[in-house]
Amino acid sequence: MRLGFVGLGRMGAGMASNLVKAGHEVTVYNRSPEKTRALVERGAHAARDVAGACGGDAVITMLADDNAVESVAFGEARLIASLRSNAVHLSMSTISVALSECLAAAHAKASQGYVAAPVFGRPDAAAAAKLFIVVAGAPEATDACMPIFQALGQKTFRFGHRPEAANLVKLSGNFLIAAAIESLGEAIALVSKAGIDKHEYIEMLTSTLFTAPVYKNYGGLIADRKFEPAGFAAPLGQKDIRLALAAAETLRVPLPLGSLLRDRFLALMAQGGDNLDWSAIAQLAAKDAGQA
Ligand code: NAP
Repeated sequence: MRLGFVGLGRMGAGMASNLVKAGHEVTVYNRSPEKTRALVERGAHAARDVAGACGGDAVITMLADDNAVESVAFGEARLIASLRSNAVHLSMSTISVALSECLAAAHAKASQGYVAAPVFGRPDAAAAAKLFIVVAGAPEATDACMPIFQALGQKTFRFGHRPEAANLVKLSGNFLIAAAIESLGEAIALVSKAGIDKHEYIEMLTSTLFTAPVYKNYGGLIADRKFEPAGFAAPLGQKDIRLALAAAETLRVPLPLGSLLRDRFLALMAQGGDNLDWSAIAQLAAKDAGQA
């Protein structure tokens, strides 16, 4: 396929590279142009602007947040104005349900396809083409994107034809992961204050009742206090909880744990944690226990 890829951050760089590896003709664009160099060395073309990445069958966006996607799609970057009719905007960033609805309407008006396909997996999974991809959109446009998903992930899950459904599933998943991080942080603070070895504790839990990757990966990071370099930066985690709460408010679904997590992220960032991994909220429990 002829593809454009916009956003070569921690996730996008590995994803774009895997598309090149899979034999797609990929044109990349990033706001900070130096990040395109490694991709060009691997065989991608570099576009000077977003419009330059919009000439193919699909353009993929993997950007930080709603502001970034909005400015690229609707603003001067002119993604929607540049994409030909019937080409697809494959939106893989974790964005709000409301923005996804808005993008779906704008692309439909321009006779373009719009598919939401946010992902689960950190930058190492993105680089290894091991992402789990949550997809929703019109069947024809979604089918056309299947070769892209095959190059990027280990499994694709389809959630119907309304793109915003995929965004809601993704946000609810990150809410669950953050809740697991918070509870791991509290449990580890409890046992380690009593002098119990936290690595042995995590080893026991994650080889018995809590064998899921989330507990294994984050349990290890929390026990090691390894919050730098950030695989998923705290402000992006905060963004996801905020977006989950916004969706919950629209649907009138109370999320008491979501409100607690929102405050945990705010506390972390107020204490200078912007450059830490989002799992550093676990450290707040240790601090509260006089352990940090
Ligand atoms: P990141 O490393 O911070 O990269 C963000 C990307 O967005 C960069 O290319 C950045 O450009 C670009 N960007 C930010 N603001 C922009 C703006 N106003 N206009 C144009 N470009 C802008 O983030 P990431 O970790 O790759 O995450 C990307 C998306 O994937 C986010 O929605 C995140 O929630 C989601 N996600 C992340 C993970 C993870 O573990 N990291 C996992 C699953 C999903 P510059 O290079 O110029 O700053």
